[in-house]
Amino acid sequence: MNKFYVTTPIYYVNSRPHLGHLYTTLVADTVINFKRQRRFDTFFLTGTDEHGQNIERAAEKAGVDVKQHVDGIVAEFQQIFSEFKVGFDHWIRTTDDYHKRGVSALWRRVKKNGFIYKGQYEGWYCVGCNGFLSEDETIAGPDDIPICKIHERPLERLAEESYFFKLSALQQTLLDYYESHPEFIRPESRRNEVMSFVRGGLNDLSVSRVSVKWGIPVPDDPAHTMYVWFDALSNYITAIGYGNEDRGGEAQFNKYWPADLQLVGKDILRFHTVYWPAFLLAAGLEPPKTVYAHGMWLSGGRKMSKSLGNVIDLSILRRHFTPDAIRYFCLREMVFGQDGDFTYEALLDRVNADLAGGLGNLSSRTLTMIQRYCDGRIPAPGNAGDDLVGQADDVRRAVAQALVDFDREFNLYNFSRAIEAVWTAIQRVDKFISDAKPWDLAKKPDLREALNLVLHTAVQALRHFTVILAPVLPESTQAIWEQMGESGQVRELPPAQLEWGEIPDQSIAEVKPIFPRLDKAKVMDEIKQEEEAKTAELAPAQPVADAPTAELPARMPVAMVEEPAPGIAYISIDDFAKVELRVGEIKTAERVPKADKLLCFTVDLGEPAPRQILAGIAQYYEPEKLIGRKVIVVANLAPRKLRGLESQGMILAASVGDEGRPVLAGFLEDVPNGVKLR
Ligand SMILES: [Zn+2]
Repeated sequence: MNKFYVTTPIYYVNSRPHLGHLYTTLVADTVINFKRQRRFDTFFLTGTDEHGQNIERAAEKAGVDVKQHVDGIVAEFQQIFSEFKVGFDHWIRTTDDYHKRGVSALWRRVKKNGFIYKGQYEGWYCVGCNGFLSEDETIAGPDDIPICKIHERPLERLAEESYFFKLSALQQTLLDYYESHPEFIRPESRRNEVMSFVRGGLNDLSVSRVSVKWGIPVPDDPAHTMYVWFDALSNYITAIGYGNEDRGGEAQFNKYWPADLQLVGKDILRFHTVYWPAFLLAAGLEPPKTVYAHGMWLSGGRKMSKSLGNVIDLSILRRHFTPDAIRYFCLREMVFGQDGDFTYEALLDRVNADLAGGLGNLSSRTLTMIQRYCDGRIPAPGNAGDDLVGQADDVRRAVAQALVDFDREFNLYNFSRAIEAVWTAIQRVDKFISDAKPWDLAKKPDLREALNLVLHTAVQALRHFTVILAPVLPESTQAIWEQMGESGQVRELPPAQLEWGEIPDQSIAEVKPIFPRLDKAKVMDEIKQEEEAKTAELAPAQPVADAPTAELPARMPVAMVEEPAPGIAYISIDDFAKVELRVGEIKTAERVPKADKLLCFTVDLGEPAPRQILAGIAQYYEPEKLIGRKVIVVANLAPRKLRGLESQGMILAASVGDEGRPVLAGFLEDVPNGVKLR
């Protein structure tokens, strides 16, 4: 049996759970649902990072025992995840005894292999970051005392005896590893960033503190406490038995390690792709297969912040939306690996358009007609004439294609595209029903066979969608499944076992709306009022320094972004209308001699003659593979000459990463040549 081991970062208990924590956890849970449905032996780890000076100080301020202080916050995380039906296999806490034993075992092994030595560390230390900062992480402050860029507070000059990890000795080992394991860091743009960081040289890493007490003591030298990252990162192996028997020992470790997917926010990517594999390689262990850095949620195009008043509040979110709707939105709206925009308005639109209007509508109209016209029994397909049979066959093929596309994209972690492929097929089924007009067929007894074929086809499609979407919409697909008269857990049925034509041998159940349409204006009004009430509640807030836990940024944070939101120079709709965008089909493609970047295409725009268009994408695309591809062309761009060849338009492509790698824009559905985009 194939295994699949997925992890989220362990969440630092100096902040309350927020959207970022929820997002990463929902992605992990959906991936594990997907793998479990396909009969993988899965393991899903999440948990909390509970050591460090911040925590010690927060508990002191609150006047409680440190363990008691963190217990309360851990309970809050677990409560939220349980409300969202997250099915993790184990919740690790870095204060757990087995974890301490496992980390100590790792430390001993790394030290025995010669990668840990004792030295003297002196530097500028930020309590907020829980670490010594390098120059580029600080700005100049008064009296020559630098200030932390993140926490905007003056640093402390500290010198202490410290153990060091010989990171510098592993520079080439790491570079070789990245080179031979292209899947290790995803997405690609992040991989390039990390590689250039490592190429720039690595310093040895201070991995212990004598000034910190709340942590795991260094083996054989208890005056030292392990540096938080050595402690925290090790959770991914101690939780599956490394260095301890409580969690299954060596057998469990050998079964699940290396992890298949470690999800992290892009802000902690360096720790997970430089330090973490370095610790593992130094111990003679394999690094994880993939560390995937996802983007951050913005709100209204801006970083979420209390001062902007655009933070998404989990309790408000939960009051107005189902866990399924929120999970769907998280996976559908954000292109995985990039930043996304989370607003209540966009969520409402998705719920109404995609869930109520798309899947929900297909489900309720199909089942209601079966109730009404067929006495609640799913009909066998009727023998209904070539034309309708041909259309029904097209639907069957579109659904089969959607299943293939969904799996392919999901396995690449392109969640948004995977879901999109299913909705394209949902639209196809909707069109089939609308064209065939079963409500008219039902009026004429001699068209009974046609009616049966239409409804049979619709319910078969619905059945397939329900199974394929079970990982993404666990509760609502189960509800649809039961309304169809099926039994058992839909999330446990592997899509590969589905057969078109199989029908449950019982009547369908009572039909109820699965995704009620939300009144956007009304819900937005309620949310605004709730947000205002929250703000009023927080108005006499204590200064940040006195707040025990809520204000310090997380060490494994997920939701916040570092970049300022880009300024937008708006244009009018009339300006946009000046640009004529059309669908084109690439008919021929060849390289341009002596121009290593250019490809020369002929493109069919539905006009009497194809156009010649040049594009600077030769370093990224093989010309012969582009023939037949549908692209978007700026059709009214003034012709211009490149290398002596006239280009009669421009092909649109996304420009990715610092090097501007082009990715051609295209369509998931088939579109005729020459059609205008607007
Ligand atoms: Zn700081």
